[in-house]
Amino acid sequence: MPQWKVRVDQDVCIGDAICASLCPDVFEMNDEGKSQPKVDIIREDPIDCAREAAEVCPVSCIYIEET
Ligand code: SF4
Repeated sequence: MPQWKVRVDQDVCIGDAICASLCPDVFEMNDEGKSQPKVDIIREDPIDCAREAAEVCPVSCIYIEET
């Protein structure tokens, strides 16, 4: 079964929370106001919204790799 690892470069994230509102199963905002993945590995279901979040992130700091 395919699975993916999601990473956010928090040095680049501007904390606008677009990813967390678009894909709350995968992203959450931490205490510093930066996005972080809620899960280490994602499988089929949330991958579409995670990809969409990576596309719309204004600073392109979301990385998705197949594992
Ligand atoms: S969309 Fe990008 S910049 Fe905005 S909170 Fe998510 S990771 Fe950070």
